[in-house]
Amino acid sequence: MDKWCGEIPLEVKFQNLFRHASIKNGSVEQHRTQEGNVMEWNFYLRRRNFRESEVNSINELKVLLAHTILDDEDDSWRWNGMSNRTFSVKSYYLDLHGKRRGDAQVPNFPYKIIWKVKLPLRIKFFMWYAVWERILTVDNLRNRGMIIQNRCVLCKASEESIIHLFFLCPFTSMLWMRLLHHRVEIMDAVMDKGNFRNIFINWPLLNSEGFKAITWKLLPYAVCWSVWVTRNKAIFQNKNASMEKVIC
Ligand SMILES: [Zn+2]
Repeated sequence: MDKWCGEIPLEVKFQNLFRHASIKNGSVEQHRTQEGNVMEWNFYLRRRNFRESEVNSINELKVLLAHTILDDEDDSWRWNGMSNRTFSVKSYYLDLHGKRRGDAQVPNFPYKIIWKVKLPLRIKFFMWYAVWERILTVDNLRNRGMIIQNRCVLCKASEESIIHLFFLCPFTSMLWMRLLHHRVEIMDAVMDKGNFRNIFINWPLLNSEGFKAITWKLLPYAVCWSVWVTRNKAIFQNKNASMEKVIC
């Protein structure tokens, strides 16, 4: 997840692989094995049948790593925000906002996609918590120690997580497909982005042909907010989730 090989974190560069990684917070050391002079990388990917784009990414990653020279020293942190490697709050702030070197906004701090978008404030707050995966989905409640059965209230089949609730749930998938005019290739491109935050960061880059600019821009916010409201009404007011009500 840190930037150690190339100019951007591998998590960002290979988003389509990272979402299948079973060890997301592992160290470099954890991902390599050394037998004698032979060193091998193990990416610990849960998926076995890869799409062509994923196979290409695996090969690209292997090439990148093959050109990376590791030494025997322990991993250590280094602050690249200042030329003298000294950390300061000012340099951190400028770095987050991409102002230090005229860079684009740092991908992992997506304030523009929330706070610069014209949305009601309560939706902005909801989205801000969602991109940091802090909204109170059942899996997050369980992580906080709440003893509760994990069942998605919309499909009543799978466990509820952020990515399931807003993208993978059959109810939500059907909603997306209707709003995207059944253009499967857009949905595939969306799911290739891996996690909720990356989907929103990359949304403006997706093929929006056939949609008004403003419609396209606000579509994912509208979908996620509507799904969240529908989900809450189903849980707290016992109201059946209705696709027609969400769309109207
Ligand atoms: Zn579901």
